[in-house]
Amino acid sequence: MKSIVNAKIVTSKEVLEGYVLTFNKKIISLNREIPKDTELIDAKGLYLSAGFIDIHIHGSNGYDVMDATPKALEEISKSILKTGTTSFLATTMTMSQEQITKALQNVQSFKQQEGARVLGVHLEGPFINPIKHGAQDPKHIQKPNIELIEPFMDIVKMITIAPEVEAGEEFIGYIKEHFPHIVLSIGHSNATYNEAKESFSWGVSHATHLFNAMNPLHHREPGIVGAILEADEVSCDIIADLIHIHPSFFKLLNRLKREQLILITDAMRAGCLKEGISEIGGQKVIVKDGEARLEDGTLAGSVLKLNEALRNFYKYTNISLSELINMVTVLPAKKLGLDIGFLEKGYKADLVLFDNEFRVHKSYINGIKTKIR
Ligand SMILES: [Zn+2]
Repeated sequence: MKSIVNAKIVTSKEVLEGYVLTFNKKIISLNREIPKDTELIDAKGLYLSAGFIDIHIHGSNGYDVMDATPKALEEISKSILKTGTTSFLATTMTMSQEQITKALQNVQSFKQQEGARVLGVHLEGPFINPIKHGAQDPKHIQKPNIELIEPFMDIVKMITIAPEVEAGEEFIGYIKEHFPHIVLSIGHSNATYNEAKESFSWGVSHATHLFNAMNPLHHREPGIVGAILEADEVSCDIIADLIHIHPSFFKLLNRLKREQLILITDAMRAGCLKEGISEIGGQKVIVKDGEARLEDGTLAGSVLKLNEALRNFYKYTNISLSELINMVTVLPAKKLGLDIGFLEKGYKADLVLFDNEFRVHKSYINGIKTKIR
């Protein structure tokens, strides 16, 4: 049993001082008492919150989920600890059927030793609209096809799909009926406002990197963005790197989607590395000035870190620290139905200690201190 003292404890509702968080694998208590026979950890005034969850990350430190090797998953897992991330969805790309299958098999058979916990897979494509392919290679886009992924339904937790494409409605209906735990997210889509709204009635409950890879908001055709902003029950995520969307939207989105807005990185293999030439989904990427772009200039994921996303969002809004941290803890955990994300009794002891600048000093996964490098 361990107890963290002298921390500013960020719960889902407030920041507590003078409290003690006690845990083993799971959180045991959060109160003012230090139990007997506990190992004391002095947080030296740092902030303590639940570990961060990234529901959309392709790679880090030179490795990509699509490399389909255990080494790639290990390196991604270990390298993102320094960003405060303690669990993530390994996110695939639109590539050949064979490569997607390999990447899924790799996650399915992965025996994790250390590093941020692999929660499962976010399938980004290949069931998207070629008109809004972004950095996904259009030649591998397919019609929604359950057969491609059916053997992997135990690990698939989220699917980014363009609902308006042929067979989209049937696919969404099938997933909703047979695999209701999977989050269906509209993204890389050219859906109109009406089509997006209709897809919510089929079972789409989230939007992937709102504003990016979809039509912009227009006052006569509000599109996906308008449909999302209007639908209280539908959540969305954004890449708060100050490049993918203008920071003026942070305040606005917070006001409109408060309980439904999640921060992601969409980081690719150059994440946590020096800038230079890289790769995504079989295409060359140039990383310069914090931007990752294909040779034609298309944004190709990001090199954002999740703690930087928090810092950016905080700077341009006036939200409380609890509300901010909820965007990478409570909200993604609730969306995926996980027993992490809260500093409450019975939840897994995934914890992070960070300072005023959101620099990560320590983290714990299942109550065990991680090796941040
Ligand atoms: Zn992505």
